[in-house]
Amino acid sequence: MVERISKLLIANRGEIAVRIIKTCRKLGIKAVAIYTQVDASAMHVRLADEAYSLGSDPYSYLDVHKIIEIVKRSGVDAVHPGYGFLSEKAVFAKAVEDAGVIWIGPRWSVIEMLESKSITRSIAHSLGIPVVPGTLGPITLAETRKVADELGFPVLLKADRGGGGRGIRIVRSPEELERLFKVAVEEIKTSFGSDKVYVEKFIPRARHIEVQILADQHGNVIALSERECSIQRRYQKVIEEAPSPIITESERMKIYDYSIRFMKHIKYSNAGTIEFIRDENGNLYLIEVNKRIQVEHPVTEMITGVDIVEQQIKIAEGRELEIKESIYKFNGHAIEARVYAEDPNTMLPSPGIITWLEFPRNEYVRIDHALAPGIEISHFYDPMIAKVIAWGSTREEARLRLVKALSEFKINGIKTSIPLLIDILVTREFIEGKFDTQFLTEFLNKRKSPR
Ligand code: ADP
Ligand code: ADP
Ligand code: MG
Repeated sequence: MVERISKLLIANRGEIAVRIIKTCRKLGIKAVAIYTQVDASAMHVRLADEAYSLGSDPYSYLDVHKIIEIVKRSGVDAVHPGYGFLSEKAVFAKAVEDAGVIWIGPRWSVIEMLESKSITRSIAHSLGIPVVPGTLGPITLAETRKVADELGFPVLLKADRGGGGRGIRIVRSPEELERLFKVAVEEIKTSFGSDKVYVEKFIPRARHIEVQILADQHGNVIALSERECSIQRRYQKVIEEAPSPIITESERMKIYDYSIRFMKHIKYSNAGTIEFIRDENGNLYLIEVNKRIQVEHPVTEMITGVDIVEQQIKIAEGRELEIKESIYKFNGHAIEARVYAEDPNTMLPSPGIITWLEFPRNEYVRIDHALAPGIEISHFYDPMIAKVIAWGSTREEARLRLVKALSEFKINGIKTSIPLLIDILVTREFIEGKFDTQFLTEFLNKRKSPR
Protein backbone atom coordinates (compact mmCIF):
# COMPACT_ATOMS: atom_id res chain seq x y z
CA MET A 1 0.00 0.00 0.00
CA VAL A 2 1.35 3.41 -0.96
CA GLU A 3 0.75 6.18 1.58
CA ARG A 4 1.59 9.64 0.39
CA ILE A 5 3.73 11.81 2.68
CA SER A 6 2.64 15.45 2.61
CA LYS A 7 4.15 16.86 5.80
CA LEU A 8 7.42 15.69 7.28
CA LEU A 9 9.21 16.44 10.54
CA ILE A 10 13.00 16.51 10.49
CA ALA A 11 14.38 15.29 13.81
CA ASN A 12 17.81 16.84 13.29
CA ARG A 13 19.64 20.13 12.81
CA GLY A 14 22.48 21.65 10.79
CA GLU A 15 23.44 20.84 7.22
CA ILE A 16 21.53 17.54 7.05
CA ALA A 17 18.26 19.20 8.11
CA VAL A 18 18.75 21.81 5.37
CA ARG A 19 19.59 19.02 2.88
CA ILE A 20 16.35 17.18 3.70
CA ILE A 21 14.29 20.39 3.39
CA LYS A 22 15.61 20.77 -0.19
CA THR A 23 14.22 17.41 -1.23
CA CYS A 24 10.92 18.14 0.57
CA ARG A 25 10.56 21.28 -1.60
CA LYS A 26 11.29 19.29 -4.73
CA LEU A 27 8.60 16.75 -3.85
CA GLY A 28 6.04 19.32 -2.65
CA ILE A 29 6.23 18.07 0.94
CA LYS A 30 5.84 20.52 3.85
CA ALA A 31 8.96 20.50 6.05
CA VAL A 32 8.71 20.87 9.83
CA ALA A 33 11.79 21.82 11.85
CA ILE A 34 12.49 21.38 15.55
CA TYR A 35 15.01 23.52 17.39
CA THR A 36 16.54 24.32 20.75
CA GLN A 37 16.94 27.86 22.05
CA VAL A 38 20.56 28.18 20.84
CA ASP A 39 19.33 27.22 17.36
CA ALA A 40 16.38 29.63 17.30
CA SER A 41 17.71 31.48 14.25
CA ALA A 42 19.43 28.48 12.62
CA MET A 43 19.11 27.94 8.86
CA HIS A 44 16.95 24.82 9.16
CA VAL A 45 14.45 26.83 11.21
CA ARG A 46 14.44 29.70 8.70
CA LEU A 47 13.96 27.43 5.71
CA ALA A 48 11.30 25.08 7.10
CA ASP A 49 7.59 25.65 6.53
CA GLU A 50 6.94 25.34 10.27
CA ALA A 51 9.24 25.18 13.28
CA TYR A 52 8.65 24.02 16.84
CA SER A 53 10.76 24.82 19.89
CA LEU A 54 12.22 22.08 22.04
CA GLY A 55 13.03 24.55 24.80
CA SER A 56 16.22 25.78 26.39
CA ASP A 57 18.09 22.50 26.93
CA PRO A 58 20.61 22.25 24.04
CA TYR A 59 20.49 18.44 24.25
CA SER A 60 16.75 18.21 23.59
CA TYR A 61 17.42 16.94 20.07
CA LEU A 62 17.89 13.62 21.86
CA ASP A 63 14.63 13.88 23.83
CA VAL A 64 12.34 11.22 22.34
CA HIS A 65 9.39 12.22 24.51
CA LYS A 66 9.54 15.92 23.56
CA ILE A 67 9.98 15.18 19.87
CA ILE A 68 7.08 12.73 19.77
CA GLU A 69 4.89 15.31 21.44
CA ILE A 70 5.73 17.76 18.60
CA VAL A 71 5.18 15.02 16.01
CA LYS A 72 1.62 14.67 17.33
CA ARG A 73 1.00 18.39 17.73
CA SER A 74 2.26 19.38 14.28
CA GLY A 75 0.15 16.83 12.43
CA VAL A 76 2.99 15.49 10.30
CA ASP A 77 2.64 12.16 8.54
CA ALA A 78 6.34 11.22 8.60
CA VAL A 79 9.62 11.70 10.47
CA HIS A 80 13.08 11.86 8.87
CA PRO A 81 15.85 11.45 11.45
CA GLY A 82 18.85 12.62 9.39
CA TYR A 83 22.05 11.06 10.72
CA GLY A 84 23.49 10.95 14.24
CA PHE A 85 21.20 11.84 17.14
CA LEU A 86 18.24 9.46 17.01
CA SER A 87 18.59 8.04 13.50
CA GLU A 88 19.86 4.66 14.66
CA LYS A 89 17.87 4.29 17.85
CA ALA A 90 15.20 1.59 17.68
CA VAL A 91 13.33 3.19 20.60
CA PHE A 92 12.82 6.35 18.59
CA ALA A 93 11.75 4.53 15.42
CA LYS A 94 9.27 2.53 17.51
CA ALA A 95 7.92 5.65 19.22
CA VAL A 96 7.34 7.24 15.79
CA GLU A 97 5.54 4.13 14.52
CA ASP A 98 3.49 3.91 17.73
CA ALA A 99 2.39 7.51 17.16
CA GLY A 100 0.89 6.31 13.87
CA VAL A 101 3.40 8.22 11.76
CA ILE A 102 5.68 6.95 8.95
CA TRP A 103 9.29 6.41 10.01
CA ILE A 104 11.80 7.16 7.23
CA GLY A 105 14.16 4.31 7.98
CA PRO A 106 14.19 0.56 8.43
CA ARG A 107 11.62 -1.07 10.75
CA TRP A 108 12.50 -0.60 14.41
CA SER A 109 13.05 -4.32 14.93
CA VAL A 110 15.68 -4.32 12.15
CA ILE A 111 17.38 -1.28 13.71
CA GLU A 112 17.40 -3.01 17.09
CA MET A 113 19.16 -6.02 15.61
CA LEU A 114 21.76 -3.93 13.78
CA GLU A 115 22.39 -1.68 16.80
CA SER A 116 24.57 -4.53 17.99
CA LYS A 117 27.74 -4.85 15.94
CA SER A 118 28.30 -8.38 17.19
CA ILE A 119 24.83 -9.50 16.06
CA THR A 120 25.59 -7.90 12.69
CA ARG A 121 28.83 -9.90 12.59
CA SER A 122 27.03 -13.15 13.45
CA ILE A 123 24.46 -12.65 10.68
CA ALA A 124 27.19 -11.90 8.13
CA HIS A 125 29.18 -14.92 9.28
CA SER A 126 26.12 -17.19 8.93
CA LEU A 127 25.70 -15.95 5.33
CA GLY A 128 29.32 -16.72 4.47
CA ILE A 129 30.28 -13.03 4.33
CA PRO A 130 33.76 -12.49 5.81
CA VAL A 131 34.01 -10.47 9.02
CA VAL A 132 37.23 -9.35 10.73
CA PRO A 133 38.60 -12.27 12.81
CA GLY A 134 37.49 -11.87 16.43
CA THR A 135 34.56 -12.71 18.65
CA LEU A 136 30.99 -12.96 17.38
CA GLY A 137 29.60 -11.87 20.74
CA PRO A 138 30.41 -9.62 23.70
CA ILE A 139 33.17 -10.86 25.93
CA THR A 140 34.65 -10.69 29.48
CA LEU A 141 38.18 -9.59 30.40
CA ALA A 142 39.39 -13.17 30.87
CA GLU A 143 37.96 -14.27 27.51
CA THR A 144 39.40 -11.17 25.86
CA ARG A 145 42.88 -12.10 27.03
CA LYS A 146 42.58 -15.58 25.59
CA VAL A 147 41.15 -14.40 22.26
CA ALA A 148 43.70 -11.57 21.94
CA ASP A 149 46.55 -14.06 22.46
CA GLU A 150 45.12 -16.24 19.70
CA LEU A 151 44.55 -13.32 17.30
CA GLY A 152 47.88 -11.66 18.05
CA PHE A 153 48.32 -8.01 19.05
CA PRO A 154 47.30 -5.33 18.27
CA VAL A 155 43.58 -5.96 18.72
CA LEU A 156 40.64 -3.57 18.78
CA LEU A 157 38.18 -3.45 21.66
CA LYS A 158 34.90 -2.23 20.25
CA ALA A 159 31.75 -1.08 21.99
CA ASP A 160 29.02 -3.42 20.75
CA ARG A 161 26.69 -0.43 20.33
CA GLY A 162 29.34 2.19 19.51
CA GLY A 163 29.19 4.68 16.67
CA GLY A 164 30.58 7.89 15.23
CA GLY A 165 34.14 6.61 15.81
CA ARG A 166 33.61 6.44 19.56
CA GLY A 167 33.96 3.36 21.74
CA ILE A 168 36.96 1.91 19.86
CA ARG A 169 40.25 1.20 21.65
CA ILE A 170 43.41 -0.23 20.16
CA VAL A 171 45.35 -2.59 22.46
CA ARG A 172 48.94 -2.99 21.34
CA SER A 173 50.31 -5.42 23.94
CA PRO A 174 49.12 -7.93 26.59
CA GLU A 175 50.32 -5.57 29.35
CA GLU A 176 47.86 -2.86 28.28
CA LEU A 177 44.89 -5.18 28.04
CA GLU A 178 43.45 -5.08 31.56
CA ARG A 179 43.74 -1.32 31.94
CA LEU A 180 42.32 -0.50 28.50
CA PHE A 181 39.51 -3.04 28.90
CA LYS A 182 38.38 -1.26 32.08
CA VAL A 183 38.75 2.19 30.51
CA ALA A 184 36.72 1.09 27.47
CA VAL A 185 33.93 -0.43 29.55
CA GLU A 186 33.64 2.68 31.75
CA GLU A 187 33.66 4.99 28.75
CA ILE A 188 30.99 3.16 26.79
CA LYS A 189 28.75 2.70 29.82
CA THR A 190 28.38 6.46 30.08
CA SER A 191 28.10 7.23 26.37
CA PHE A 192 26.23 4.22 24.98
CA GLY A 193 24.28 2.88 27.95
CA SER A 194 25.70 -0.63 27.46
CA ASP A 195 28.99 -2.03 28.73
CA LYS A 196 29.31 -4.78 26.16
CA VAL A 197 32.56 -4.96 24.22
CA TYR A 198 33.90 -7.46 21.72
CA VAL A 199 37.31 -8.00 20.15
CA GLU A 200 38.51 -7.76 16.57
CA LYS A 201 41.92 -8.21 15.06
CA PHE A 202 43.40 -4.83 14.16
CA ILE A 203 43.94 -4.77 10.40
CA PRO A 204 47.06 -2.71 9.65
CA ARG A 205 47.16 -0.52 6.56
CA ALA A 206 43.39 -0.89 6.18
CA ARG A 207 41.21 0.92 3.69
CA HIS A 208 37.60 1.74 4.53
CA ILE A 209 35.25 0.96 1.64
CA GLU A 210 31.46 1.03 1.93
CA VAL A 211 28.53 0.13 -0.30
CA GLN A 212 25.48 2.38 -0.62
CA ILE A 213 22.31 0.32 -0.70
CA LEU A 214 18.73 1.20 -1.55
CA ALA A 215 16.14 -1.36 -0.48
CA ASP A 216 12.36 -1.08 -0.80
CA GLN A 217 9.58 -2.81 1.16
CA HIS A 218 8.99 -5.25 -1.70
CA GLY A 219 12.30 -7.06 -1.45
CA ASN A 220 14.16 -5.14 -4.18
CA VAL A 221 17.73 -4.26 -3.18
CA ILE A 222 20.24 -2.39 -5.31
CA ALA A 223 23.89 -1.37 -4.86
CA LEU A 224 24.28 2.32 -5.68
CA SER A 225 28.07 2.20 -6.05
CA GLU A 226 30.69 2.32 -3.30
CA ARG A 227 32.60 5.03 -1.42
CA GLU A 228 36.08 5.09 -0.01
CA CYS A 229 36.51 6.83 3.34
CA SER A 230 40.06 5.98 4.41
CA ILE A 231 41.14 9.53 5.23
CA GLN A 232 40.19 9.39 8.91
CA ARG A 233 41.16 10.83 12.23
CA ARG A 234 40.26 9.07 15.48
CA TYR A 235 38.24 6.53 13.49
CA GLN A 236 36.16 9.35 11.97
CA LYS A 237 35.96 10.17 8.29
CA VAL A 238 37.41 13.46 7.01
CA ILE A 239 37.60 13.05 3.21
CA GLU A 240 35.47 10.60 1.24
CA GLU A 241 35.20 9.73 -2.42
CA ALA A 242 33.29 7.65 -4.92
CA PRO A 243 34.16 5.31 -6.49
CA SER A 244 37.03 3.77 -4.50
CA PRO A 245 40.34 4.35 -6.30
CA ILE A 246 41.77 1.06 -5.10
CA ILE A 247 39.38 -1.83 -5.46
CA THR A 248 39.45 -4.04 -8.51
CA GLU A 249 36.32 -4.78 -10.52
CA SER A 250 36.09 -8.27 -9.04
CA GLU A 251 36.44 -6.95 -5.48
CA ARG A 252 33.75 -4.41 -6.27
CA MET A 253 31.33 -7.09 -7.48
CA LYS A 254 32.13 -9.15 -4.39
CA ILE A 255 31.21 -6.40 -1.90
CA TYR A 256 28.08 -5.50 -3.88
CA ASP A 257 27.04 -9.16 -3.72
CA TYR A 258 27.76 -9.39 0.04
CA SER A 259 25.84 -6.19 0.69
CA ILE A 260 22.78 -7.10 -1.37
CA ARG A 261 22.67 -10.60 0.17
CA PHE A 262 22.95 -9.23 3.71
CA MET A 263 20.20 -6.64 3.25
CA LYS A 264 17.86 -9.13 1.50
CA HIS A 265 18.35 -11.62 4.32
CA ILE A 266 17.31 -9.17 7.04
CA LYS A 267 14.47 -7.75 4.87
CA TYR A 268 15.98 -4.28 5.16
CA SER A 269 14.19 -1.29 3.67
CA ASN A 270 15.51 2.31 3.39
CA ALA A 271 18.87 3.62 2.22
CA GLY A 272 21.67 1.88 4.11
CA THR A 273 25.41 1.41 4.05
CA ILE A 274 27.50 -1.69 4.55
CA GLU A 275 31.01 -0.82 5.71
CA PHE A 276 33.98 -3.01 4.86
CA ILE A 277 37.66 -2.83 5.50
CA ARG A 278 40.15 -4.05 2.94
CA ASP A 279 43.55 -5.31 4.00
CA GLU A 280 46.75 -4.90 2.02
CA ASN A 281 46.14 -8.19 0.20
CA GLY A 282 42.71 -7.21 -1.02
CA ASN A 283 40.78 -9.25 1.58
CA LEU A 284 37.49 -7.55 2.38
CA TYR A 285 35.76 -7.82 5.75
CA LEU A 286 32.34 -6.49 6.73
CA ILE A 287 32.57 -4.27 9.83
CA GLU A 288 29.14 -2.73 10.37
CA VAL A 289 25.89 -1.60 8.82
CA ASN A 290 24.71 2.02 9.00
CA LYS A 291 20.94 2.12 8.84
CA ARG A 292 20.44 5.77 7.86
CA ILE A 293 21.51 8.43 5.39
CA GLN A 294 25.25 8.91 5.66
CA VAL A 295 27.21 12.15 6.00
CA GLU A 296 29.08 11.35 2.78
CA HIS A 297 26.01 10.50 0.66
CA PRO A 298 26.60 13.48 -1.72
CA VAL A 299 29.57 11.79 -3.42
CA THR A 300 27.27 8.95 -4.43
CA GLU A 301 24.59 11.37 -5.56
CA MET A 302 27.12 13.19 -7.74
CA ILE A 303 28.30 10.09 -9.60
CA THR A 304 24.85 8.50 -9.95
CA GLY A 305 22.47 11.47 -10.23
CA VAL A 306 20.16 9.75 -7.72
CA ASP A 307 18.67 11.85 -4.88
CA ILE A 308 19.08 9.45 -1.95
CA VAL A 309 16.79 11.41 0.39
CA GLU A 310 14.04 11.29 -2.26
CA GLN A 311 14.52 7.53 -2.52
CA GLN A 312 14.27 7.20 1.28
CA ILE A 313 10.97 9.09 1.26
CA LYS A 314 9.52 7.05 -1.63
CA ILE A 315 10.59 3.78 -0.02
CA ALA A 316 8.92 4.85 3.25
CA GLU A 317 5.74 5.64 1.30
CA GLY A 318 5.74 2.00 0.26
CA ARG A 319 6.65 2.56 -3.39
CA GLU A 320 8.73 0.10 -5.38
CA LEU A 321 12.20 1.25 -6.43
CA GLU A 322 12.05 2.70 -9.92
CA ILE A 323 15.70 1.75 -10.47
CA LYS A 324 15.74 -1.81 -11.68
CA GLU A 325 19.46 -2.46 -12.21
CA SER A 326 20.72 -4.28 -9.11
CA ILE A 327 24.15 -2.79 -9.79
CA TYR A 328 23.82 0.84 -10.76
CA LYS A 329 26.16 2.39 -13.29
CA PHE A 330 27.98 5.49 -12.13
CA ASN A 331 29.67 8.31 -13.98
CA GLY A 332 32.95 10.07 -13.17
CA HIS A 333 34.38 10.66 -9.73
CA ALA A 334 33.40 12.77 -6.70
CA ILE A 335 35.35 13.78 -3.59
CA GLU A 336 33.97 15.31 -0.39
CA ALA A 337 35.82 17.23 2.31
CA ARG A 338 34.20 17.75 5.72
CA VAL A 339 34.79 21.29 6.98
CA TYR A 340 35.06 21.56 10.76
CA ALA A 341 34.87 24.65 12.98
CA GLU A 342 38.30 24.08 14.44
CA ASP A 343 41.75 25.52 14.51
CA PRO A 344 43.61 23.81 11.62
CA ASN A 345 46.83 23.71 13.64
CA THR A 346 45.69 22.60 17.07
CA MET A 347 42.46 20.98 15.90
CA LEU A 348 40.66 22.38 18.91
CA PRO A 349 37.04 23.49 18.39
CA SER A 350 36.54 27.08 17.27
CA PRO A 351 32.99 28.12 18.13
CA GLY A 352 31.81 31.64 17.35
CA ILE A 353 29.61 33.78 15.15
CA ILE A 354 29.96 33.78 11.37
CA THR A 355 30.65 37.35 10.35
CA TRP A 356 31.23 36.96 6.62
CA LEU A 357 30.91 34.21 4.02
CA GLU A 358 31.93 33.69 0.43
CA PHE A 359 31.10 30.52 -1.47
CA PRO A 360 33.00 29.17 -4.45
CA ARG A 361 30.95 29.12 -7.64
CA ASN A 362 31.40 26.18 -9.93
CA GLU A 363 28.69 24.02 -11.48
CA TYR A 364 30.67 20.88 -10.59
CA VAL A 365 30.95 21.81 -6.92
CA ARG A 366 28.24 21.27 -4.31
CA ILE A 367 28.32 22.72 -0.81
CA ASP A 368 26.03 21.28 1.85
CA HIS A 369 25.84 23.62 4.84
CA ALA A 370 23.57 25.56 7.18
CA LEU A 371 25.67 28.72 7.27
CA ALA A 372 24.82 32.41 6.96
CA PRO A 373 26.33 35.59 8.36
CA GLY A 374 25.20 36.02 11.97
CA ILE A 375 24.75 32.27 12.57
CA GLU A 376 26.38 31.04 15.76
CA ILE A 377 28.49 27.89 15.70
CA SER A 378 27.83 26.50 19.16
CA HIS A 379 30.15 24.25 21.13
CA PHE A 380 27.10 22.16 22.04
CA TYR A 381 26.92 20.54 18.62
CA ASP A 382 28.98 18.63 16.08
CA PRO A 383 31.75 20.95 14.81
CA MET A 384 31.19 19.78 11.22
CA ILE A 385 29.74 22.91 9.60
CA ALA A 386 29.89 22.18 5.87
CA LYS A 387 30.76 19.61 3.24
CA VAL A 388 32.38 20.62 -0.02
CA ILE A 389 31.93 18.08 -2.80
CA ALA A 390 33.47 18.26 -6.28
CA TRP A 391 32.72 16.12 -9.33
CA GLY A 392 35.08 15.42 -12.24
CA SER A 393 35.11 13.08 -15.21
CA THR A 394 38.31 11.70 -13.65
CA ARG A 395 39.52 11.53 -10.04
CA GLU A 396 42.22 14.08 -10.77
CA GLU A 397 39.74 16.54 -12.24
CA ALA A 398 37.53 16.17 -9.13
CA ARG A 399 40.53 16.63 -6.85
CA LEU A 400 41.68 19.82 -8.59
CA ARG A 401 38.16 21.27 -8.52
CA LEU A 402 37.88 20.45 -4.80
CA VAL A 403 41.20 22.11 -3.95
CA LYS A 404 40.17 25.21 -5.92
CA ALA A 405 36.72 25.32 -4.30
CA LEU A 406 38.17 24.97 -0.80
CA SER A 407 40.63 27.77 -1.41
CA GLU A 408 37.80 30.04 -2.61
CA PHE A 409 35.52 29.20 0.35
CA LYS A 410 35.87 32.08 2.82
CA ILE A 411 34.40 31.93 6.30
CA ASN A 412 35.14 34.74 8.76
CA GLY A 413 34.40 34.79 12.48
CA ILE A 414 35.55 31.25 13.25
CA LYS A 415 38.57 29.15 12.35
CA THR A 416 37.99 26.19 10.04
CA SER A 417 39.82 23.05 8.96
CA ILE A 418 39.92 24.23 5.31
CA PRO A 419 43.73 24.80 5.24
CA LEU A 420 44.31 21.30 6.60
CA LEU A 421 41.94 19.76 4.04
CA ILE A 422 43.85 21.44 1.21
CA ASP A 423 47.16 20.21 2.66
CA ILE A 424 45.87 16.64 2.63
CA LEU A 425 44.45 16.85 -0.90
CA VAL A 426 47.79 17.94 -2.37
CA THR A 427 49.92 15.19 -0.81
CA ARG A 428 51.53 12.71 -3.18
CA GLU A 429 49.74 9.90 -1.33
CA PHE A 430 46.31 11.41 -1.92
CA ILE A 431 47.05 12.28 -5.54
CA GLU A 432 48.17 8.71 -6.23
CA GLY A 433 45.36 7.16 -4.18
CA LYS A 434 47.95 5.40 -2.03
CA PHE A 435 46.79 5.93 1.53
CA ASP A 436 45.16 3.96 4.33
CA THR A 437 43.20 4.68 7.50
CA GLN A 438 46.38 5.58 9.39
CA PHE A 439 47.61 8.05 6.79
CA LEU A 440 46.06 11.17 8.29
CA THR A 441 47.28 10.45 11.84
CA GLU A 442 50.81 9.91 10.53
CA PHE A 443 50.55 13.04 8.39
CA LEU A 444 49.47 15.11 11.41
CA ASN A 445 52.23 13.67 13.61
CA LYS A 446 54.83 14.57 10.99
CA ARG A 447 53.41 18.09 10.79
CA LYS A 448 53.60 18.47 14.56
CA SER A 449 57.27 17.53 14.73
CA PRO A 450 59.00 18.86 11.60
CA ARG A 451 62.58 17.62 11.34
P1 ADP B 1 28.88 8.49 8.64
O1 ADP B 1 28.88 7.15 9.31
O2 ADP B 1 27.58 8.92 8.08
O3 ADP B 1 30.00 8.65 7.75
P2 ADP B 1 29.73 9.63 11.10
O4 ADP B 1 30.29 8.32 11.55
O5 ADP B 1 30.62 10.81 11.08
O6 ADP B 1 29.06 9.57 9.73
O7 ADP B 1 28.48 9.91 12.03
C1 ADP B 1 27.47 10.83 11.67
C2 ADP B 1 27.14 11.73 12.80
O8 ADP B 1 26.47 11.01 13.81
C3 ADP B 1 28.33 12.35 13.46
O9 ADP B 1 27.95 13.63 13.85
C4 ADP B 1 28.57 11.47 14.66
O10 ADP B 1 29.19 12.17 15.70
C5 ADP B 1 27.18 11.05 15.02
N1 ADP B 1 27.04 9.70 15.56
C6 ADP B 1 27.24 8.56 14.90
N2 ADP B 1 26.95 7.50 15.68
C7 ADP B 1 26.57 7.99 16.86
C8 ADP B 1 26.13 7.41 18.10
N3 ADP B 1 26.05 6.10 18.27
N4 ADP B 1 25.79 8.24 19.10
C9 ADP B 1 25.87 9.56 18.95
N5 ADP B 1 26.25 10.16 17.81
C10 ADP B 1 26.61 9.40 16.79
P1 ADP C 1 31.86 3.30 14.05
O1 ADP C 1 30.56 2.63 14.36
O2 ADP C 1 32.34 4.15 15.13
O3 ADP C 1 31.83 3.94 12.71
P2 ADP C 1 33.42 1.14 12.84
O4 ADP C 1 33.34 -0.25 13.31
O5 ADP C 1 32.71 1.46 11.59
O6 ADP C 1 32.91 2.10 13.99
O7 ADP C 1 34.93 1.55 12.70
C1 ADP C 1 35.34 2.89 12.51
C2 ADP C 1 36.68 2.93 11.81
O8 ADP C 1 37.68 2.25 12.60
C3 ADP C 1 36.73 2.24 10.47
O9 ADP C 1 36.31 3.09 9.45
C4 ADP C 1 38.20 1.86 10.34
O10 ADP C 1 38.99 2.94 9.92
C5 ADP C 1 38.58 1.56 11.76
N1 ADP C 1 38.48 0.12 12.03
C6 ADP C 1 37.38 -0.55 12.42
N2 ADP C 1 37.63 -1.85 12.59
C7 ADP C 1 38.93 -2.04 12.29
C8 ADP C 1 39.82 -3.17 12.29
N3 ADP C 1 39.41 -4.38 12.66
N4 ADP C 1 41.13 -2.95 11.95
C9 ADP C 1 41.56 -1.73 11.61
N5 ADP C 1 40.78 -0.64 11.60
C10 ADP C 1 39.48 -0.77 11.93
MG1 MG D 1 31.46 2.98 10.92
